[in-house]
Amino acid sequence: MTSRYDMTRGELASVLDGAPRYRVDQVWQGLYDHCTEPSEWTNLPMAMRTDLAEQLPTALTPVTESVSRNGDTVKFLWELDGGQRIETVLMLYRDRATVCVSSQAGCAMGCGFCATGQAGFARHLGVGEILEQVARASRRAKEVGRRVSNVVYMGMGEPMANEERVWGSVERLHGDFGLSARHITISTVGIVPGIRTLAARPLPVNLAVSLHAANDELRDELVPINRRYPIDDLMAACNDYLDLRNRRISFEWAMIDGVNDRDRDAAQLAALCRRLRLPAHVNLIPLNPTPGYPTRGSSLTRVHEFRDLLESLGANATVRQNRGTEIDAACGQLAAGQPVTLGRRRTGAPDDPDDR
Ligand code: SAH
Ligand code: SF4
Repeated sequence: MTSRYDMTRGELASVLDGAPRYRVDQVWQGLYDHCTEPSEWTNLPMAMRTDLAEQLPTALTPVTESVSRNGDTVKFLWELDGGQRIETVLMLYRDRATVCVSSQAGCAMGCGFCATGQAGFARHLGVGEILEQVARASRRAKEVGRRVSNVVYMGMGEPMANEERVWGSVERLHGDFGLSARHITISTVGIVPGIRTLAARPLPVNLAVSLHAANDELRDELVPINRRYPIDDLMAACNDYLDLRNRRISFEWAMIDGVNDRDRDAAQLAALCRRLRLPAHVNLIPLNPTPGYPTRGSSLTRVHEFRDLLESLGANATVRQNRGTEIDAACGQLAAGQPVTLGRRRTGAPDDPDDR
């Protein structure tokens, strides 16, 4: 199905068939500047609004919206054409508003600690389905007087397994929603061909690599795709990326108690950071509880010790404040309707990597 945010301006003009150009402009503004519904476009004749509501179908049907206690994190659950469900998270900060979007319904990468991975893969999302998440979250942000400034591809799915559509959506976030490429971050589990493709793309978006382990033995276990793209190949792809982009990469590290938070893990991680021509920045996130993974997140004390250890070894690291855990909106918790009932709750999705 071609939904309203799949359409380019040219396609929209042909839907509006023969309408004057200023009408196309008005509809475009409604979709991209105001993120509103056809019924709200009161600058158009009533009959035209009614027709447009039919001619511009939505891709997402709202199922639920959950708001964190202090109101700064909102999680949306949507149903897609075909019945699959995906989630989007809006995070309001003092200085910016970030939308965390899903790129697939489910994920085929099978990382055991991730709720999306536990659920398996359903299908790829199209450009319109990705963009509508941003549009609807923007609309919600406007209701509280805020403007979405950042988009992170850190929701459900592996963006680099759906690279073409993801890139299509990035170009339109930049061109049509007016977001700066530097405020867009793509997070990958380490799909080497995807990193190489991304490096050759024209817009300078941020790249985050979900590392979680700094030796192949442990990474094979935590992130199974490592067997296909082992650490040496991944670091080579990151260095080739830096050759083309010269833009710092971040390594994401979900801290798992007794698994990847030992002193020697810090030493191996610091060494990997240094292997990049421009040393990587590490984002530490305590593992969020998910139903299918028994091991717990590291204590906050250990997370800070680990950060200090990395710093003493010459690596830059930031502890990310988790957000939205109590509404299951945090990293890795997005499982489309499966309630998280096991494990400890923490206060608070990690900040986006722009928060430095
Ligand atoms: N598939 C991509 C992007 C979506 S996951 C990727 O893996 O990078 C977004 C981030 O959440 C990744 O860094 C991922 O490793 C992390 N994550 C997954 N499960 C988590 C959990 N239970 N606790 C904390 N972070 C988690
Ligand atoms: Fe997929 Fe990322 Fe979850 Fe791994 S962590 S299963 S790649 S969404």
